[in-house]
Amino acid sequence: MVKTRPENFNDQLWAEKILYIYWIMVLIAFVGQVIGLITTIIYFPGYVIEFIFNKLLLPTAIQLFILLLASYVIKVRKIHSPKLLMFTGTIAALVTVANHPTVPGLQILFLLAMAVILIFFDKKKLRFSLYINLIALASLYVLPSVRASANEYEFFAYFFVLWAGYRVYLIVLERGNEVLYFLQRATDKEKELIVKSAMMERLSKVDALTNLYNHKTFHEYLDFLHEQSVSYDMPLQLALIDIDDFKLINDQFGHSNGDVVLKRVALDIADKLTENDVVARYGGEEFAVLLTNKSIDQALEKMEEVRSHIAYQYHEELHGNITVSIGLKNLNKSMSKEALFKEADELLYAAKRNGKNQVMYDERKEVIQ
Ligand code: GH3
Ligand code: MG
Ligand code: MG
Repeated sequence: MVKTRPENFNDQLWAEKILYIYWIMVLIAFVGQVIGLITTIIYFPGYVIEFIFNKLLLPTAIQLFILLLASYVIKVRKIHSPKLLMFTGTIAALVTVANHPTVPGLQILFLLAMAVILIFFDKKKLRFSLYINLIALASLYVLPSVRASANEYEFFAYFFVLWAGYRVYLIVLERGNEVLYFLQRATDKEKELIVKSAMMERLSKVDALTNLYNHKTFHEYLDFLHEQSVSYDMPLQLALIDIDDFKLINDQFGHSNGDVVLKRVALDIADKLTENDVVARYGGEEFAVLLTNKSIDQALEKMEEVRSHIAYQYHEELHGNITVSIGLKNLNKSMSKEALFKEADELLYAAKRNGKNQVMYDERKEVIQ
């Protein structure tokens, strides 16, 4: 089993929570001692001074000292060492048990001190905690007061209870780790799915050969940008680009060389445009560009740049250059997107008819016709 710890495990927060439990333990012990004091005052008035010193002040002072020290280290110095927590809990338990040798079963506090360590989900720490609690239990019997009030059967019984408690905690911890492991696997799977679905979404938007947006995505952008431009009176131009005599290129140099050239032309087009523009592979050797944020003159200049950039590109596969024809249409207010597309397409064919390797736009079309 892989050792797992909960992600985002906030050591500082948990260390403070454990400290809080220790404080409550010490407070309860103190209340018990106060009750003991009242009983002593009533039944054994001669022992009051001794009780106050030995049973109330000394153990409380030791416990306060340990807890204040641990609180300082954890809360002020922000050092939250698990070992510090283990020792603090065990010593607090030891002091309480040593202080009340006649209270039967109080040794169970060592079991509690060990239980706290479960939050670390760590077998090694649990084992370490078992050792220090066993040592603390054994050290108790050095005290004559404890020895006097316990027999050896009890002594072994407590050792066994501590060891059995450890085994139970171990199982709880293993089960917890198992659950965590499955939880982590489920989370990993979920992350994988998110990445996959993001990739799928991208794949469904782009054309595999050229990496440009595909036909469907182009129409989504056209819908959106057309609506925006009409609503807010923002400039929008559509350019349709078609490679000249591409059929001949395929016939002469083969389809796979044709593909290489097609890819390069796609790169050349994208190269000259910015993130304000949408570039798509509209069909086989046809591309569509939506230009935003530009006047018609700027758009024309841009498309001229695209055309000449492609025309000057030398293709080794073809031992020569290729050219494109471009139809460019500016969106007029009240023009539907279908009309915009139709006009750009007509301009493209006007460019073809006019001798190819050129950009045709509204005004020039009127001159030519
Ligand atoms: P024009 O100058 O009038 O545009 O002539 P053209 O030969 O380019 O026009 P046409 O539309 O008749 O031919 C386009 C050719 O583009 C046909 C097809 O073989 C080729 N084509 C389309 N898609 C691909 C592709 O993905 N890879 C390759 N290699 N060729 C393609
Ligand atoms: Mg074509
Ligand atoms: Mg063509």
